[in-house]
Amino acid sequence: MNYRHIYHAGNFADVLKHAVLARLVRYMQNKDKAFRVLDTHAGIGLYDLSSEEAQKTGEWRDGIGRVIEAKLEPQVANLLEPYLSAVRELNPEGGIRLYPGSPKLSRMLFRPQDRLSAMELHPEDFVRLHRVFEGDHHVRVTELDGWLALGAHLPPKEKRGIVLVDPPFEEEGEYDRLIDGLEKAWRRFPGGTYCLWYPLKKDAPIRAFHEGLQALEIPKMLCAELTVKSDRHETGLTGSGLIVVNPPFTLKDELHALLPALKDILTQDRFASHRAFWLRGEA
Ligand code: SAM
Repeated sequence: MNYRHIYHAGNFADVLKHAVLARLVRYMQNKDKAFRVLDTHAGIGLYDLSSEEAQKTGEWRDGIGRVIEAKLEPQVANLLEPYLSAVRELNPEGGIRLYPGSPKLSRMLFRPQDRLSAMELHPEDFVRLHRVFEGDHHVRVTELDGWLALGAHLPPKEKRGIVLVDPPFEEEGEYDRLIDGLEKAWRRFPGGTYCLWYPLKKDAPIRAFHEGLQALEIPKMLCAELTVKSDRHETGLTGSGLIVVNPPFTLKDELHALLPALKDILTQDRFASHRAFWLRGEA
């Protein structure tokens, strides 16, 4: 396990993932009933962007660094409000030094009745994550393989929930693992909202990944992708995608407003693009 998210925190891929996660949390809160977020690959929860690691790549500068400075249309500002309000709350003196990872972001948006279960397998990152939520009775942090949590921790006792699966993609076969993990989880908890993250890069097997997901016959699956640069000369990340199972009925329209705005803000060359479509369901 070499991957450490501190090098990438707040980058363009985090922006898409966290903006959508915040929309999902807010949507759940349309009902009073409690829900749980299961965050299977949680990271350390809170990132210091002035740290040596984050400064070394500076990836956040072309991610949240651009978004926080951008002049947003009212509709887009409204859609990004839950996400950006959390970022601003962590940085009351302006600018951006602290950045919320997915578990911290969910937690910051919670009402008193909402709960979080977060898994992190890297021993050092687990310790840091645990420290962030020490004494917080809304949160359970476990040093556990997140793929196992998709079996053992579902369905949540609240019977309502969001499952974020955000693996590091440092090993071969991670796209297939996502498909298998979703199948296993969905059988145990078919009513859950799932959000799966995946990388877009040169030669990534995206078509096979989408076909594998379609073959699961899960009724409602929405796909959102945002590419910020061409992959012609790139071997690294050029964009990222999210699969949302059982999305809020509002999410597709929200993505149609959000994605073009984020593309304009995050673009690194003229090949930036976006798309949002039903992989299965309401085509
Ligand atoms: N979800 C986080 C966020 O958005 O702020 C970022 C998570 S990062 C992409 C992936 C994390 O998964 C890393 O911290 C890594 O240590 C952890 N990890 C890797 N394999 C894991 C596994 N099998 N189970 C749980 N965590 C794992």
